[in-house]
Amino acid sequence: MTAATPPHPLDAVLSGIAQSARIAGREPADVTLIAVSKTHPPEAIVPLLTAGQRAFGENRVQEAAAKWPSLREAYPDVSLHLIGQLQSNKAEDAVAMFDAIHAVDRPSLVDALGKAMAKVGRHPDCFLQVNIGAEEQKGGCAIADLAALLDRARGAGLPVAGLMCIPPADIEPAPYFALLAKLARDAGLTGLSMGMSSDYETAVTLGATHVRVGSALFGARGGVAA
Ligand SMILES: *Cc1c(COP(=O)(O)O)cnc(C)c1O
Repeated sequence: MTAATPPHPLDAVLSGIAQSARIAGREPADVTLIAVSKTHPPEAIVPLLTAGQRAFGENRVQEAAAKWPSLREAYPDVSLHLIGQLQSNKAEDAVAMFDAIHAVDRPSLVDALGKAMAKVGRHPDCFLQVNIGAEEQKGGCAIADLAALLDRARGAGLPVAGLMCIPPADIEPAPYFALLAKLARDAGLTGLSMGMSSDYETAVTLGATHVRVGSALFGARGGVAA
């Protein structure tokens, strides 16, 4: 008898998602795993594509533009998610390349995205990022500004799919996930982009529809900060 092959990280993450969904009485299929491939070269991405993974996340427009066009030729059904901060002057490039934009967090960016969508003729799903822990250094709109940002996004013609957050590091994330879920419910939004390698299972039990998982799938990023 040969030694059992260790489960591929993708299988482990998918079964973690499925198990957490069932615990919460949800359907595993209602959770999209976004494989965060930032900083990783195409050689590291291809095995996941081969295994059937189709949703990927990148932090930077330029890095995605260098990596994905050729991969997409081979796998046209890939969906690309921009999960990092976006500068307004890159809105057009982002709209042209991505299928979803997860860090929409300020009026000037909403306006730039609205113009870019009208010009480019593509309308990627947008998630409004909320600074859920009210951290000074973090992106995301203040909870108090969310209703106004949502109004503005709808007025600008953005398809708002839901809310996104990155909870404070090193403390229990569950209360923050629960708060984001409540904010979405109150706003009538169904999408919840929350949960990363260390906490995606918790996020799924609290309603995440999109989890953004990098290091648990690809290994560490070699100290490159996001
Ligand atoms: C890098 C990043 C992730 C993935 O982080 P891991 O801890 O590697 O899973 C998720 N979301 C955002 C916004 C990121 O920048």
